[in-house]
Amino acid sequence: MTPDAVVIGSGPNGLVAANLLADAGWSVVVLEEQDRPGGAVWSDESVAPGHVHDTFSSFYPLAAGSPTVQALHLEQHGLEWSRAPSVLGHAFPDGRWAVLHDDRNDTASALDADAPGDGQAWLDLCATWDRVGDDLVRCLLSPFPPVRGGAGMALQLTRAGGLGLVRELLMPARSLTEHRFRGEGARMLVAGNAGHADIPLESPGSAVMGLLLAMLGQTVGFPVPRGGAAALSGAMVRRLESLGGEVRLGERVTEVCVRSGRAVAVRTSSGEVPVRRAVLADVSAPALFGGLVGWDALPTKLRDRMSRFEWDPSTVKVDWALSSPVPWSNAPDRAPGTVHVADSMDDMTLAGGQVSAGLVPERPFLLVGQMGVADHTRVPDGGEALWAYTHVPQRVRSDAAEGRHGVRPVTGSWDESDLEAMAERVEQRIESRAPGFRDRITARRVLGPRELEALDSNLVGGAVNGGTAGLHQQLVFRPVAGTGRAETPVRGLYLASASAHPGGGVHGACGANAARAALWHHRARPPWRKQ
Ligand SMILES: Cc1cc2nc3c(=O)[nH]c(=O)nc-3n(C[C@H](O)[C@H](O)[C@H](O)COP(=O)(O)OP(=O)(O)OC[C@H]3O[C@@H](n4cnc5c(N)ncnc54)[C@H](O)[C@@H]3O)c2cc1C
Repeated sequence: MTPDAVVIGSGPNGLVAANLLADAGWSVVVLEEQDRPGGAVWSDESVAPGHVHDTFSSFYPLAAGSPTVQALHLEQHGLEWSRAPSVLGHAFPDGRWAVLHDDRNDTASALDADAPGDGQAWLDLCATWDRVGDDLVRCLLSPFPPVRGGAGMALQLTRAGGLGLVRELLMPARSLTEHRFRGEGARMLVAGNAGHADIPLESPGSAVMGLLLAMLGQTVGFPVPRGGAAALSGAMVRRLESLGGEVRLGERVTEVCVRSGRAVAVRTSSGEVPVRRAVLADVSAPALFGGLVGWDALPTKLRDRMSRFEWDPSTVKVDWALSSPVPWSNAPDRAPGTVHVADSMDDMTLAGGQVSAGLVPERPFLLVGQMGVADHTRVPDGGEALWAYTHVPQRVRSDAAEGRHGVRPVTGSWDESDLEAMAERVEQRIESRAPGFRDRITARRVLGPRELEALDSNLVGGAVNGGTAGLHQQLVFRPVAGTGRAETPVRGLYLASASAHPGGGVHGACGANAARAALWHHRARPPWRKQ
């Protein structure tokens, strides 16, 4: 039977799109090139038996805060969320910590002890978020420009005093945090979260991710799927199958077949799959435009604009099995699931600047996940499944640490020796905050740019966000100027991946926007042109 829709790729965006189409009664087939579903939402036990490591993403505040993901009711399909005793910790070099607690009053009193006044400033920020946060999230996750409700939303934000918050989201994270807070603790809670995107802390727009993640952390937390990230993908697959949808694994799509300007089929290694209504591509923009769809079927101006498409930086991720928890100096009473490691905002700026300049940072900014803390079912009693990742340039010119005594240089070839050298640098940084950490390592895996891309071809060169989050490639400029919506120049073909607005992260919005666009276009067509 010819399906109504084919979804290329089973990442979270592909699976959300497939579920929404199936909800509308469409027959859907998802074609996935790997031998497992989920894209960058997966977990495995290959580091050490009994230790479940998330292969890529781990913490899901964006999913928990996403109206689309919430509306899937994945709990009815086996998903259980688990949370660490506290949300997030920032580990300073002198043993101090800034901690984002579940309870905003606890966060505020700790911040106040660091710098009097910061507690109230934190509570004020939370109060603004209470008024406008839900609307703002809905607005950020909707297609851009918002066609329906855009004006109403603006009015509502103005009335609720939310325009000030919108302005702050557009500010550089450094200006915002230095204006709002006196102490380093509160500043780094926001700036560390801003470090999840690739916008420099001094550039406009870098506050978006910082404020969004900090406020989601304070309201919905940083939950993880019990048992591993694969449980989230598994629940989405089960939900889809319960609606009659199908996920075919090991099926790489090599072409979207376009006839008379319309997507009519996709080609895979095992043949052609015809489609009745729509093809939704959960692949990167460069893989779709000029890749799966040849330039002969696309406007010349798109080719021109795509030549200016910018990837986000590359990534090196290290996973460890530990015999016991990380021995952090002055560990917070309530252990955080996520830990950020940077000496200061200047330290983060320096590392980010080095990445932008093509240098491997000497003191990389680390995002660390303590998965046994967040979900005890993932580790043997007393053990820990730890990871840390950091960004490195897509094209390495040199190593900022070159010539430093006792530091092994990284060449940028990302061969085994480079991965070892980078892992050593990351380990030293954790050891500086947690003496004795290395003695607890029982197994290690290093995933560099090549390994990440081999496990998920959307992670081109180790890019995690489907393209830079810089303002010049956001909103109507995502993936290229004049777009911002899921529609493509080919009728019946939609871009559903993180390369589309609103970009990276597990919120499902790119997939949902694509599914809604496909449904809308189908409904809008006269009945005699619907098939
Ligand atoms: C190391 C790492 C850590 C991260 N941490 C977090 C985090 O903690 N929280 C968070 O919210 N986000 C995180 N992210 C980002 C998040 O995982 C991604 O933004 C998100 O997975 C993007 O979803 P997607 O569906 O667009 O693409 P993907 O998840 O990349 O899925 C794309 C899928 O398409 C398949 N595919 C590609 N081409 C083809 C083809 N031609 N034929 C068939 N199948 C194809 C791929 O195999 C893959 O399964 C992280 C990402 C990485 C890499």
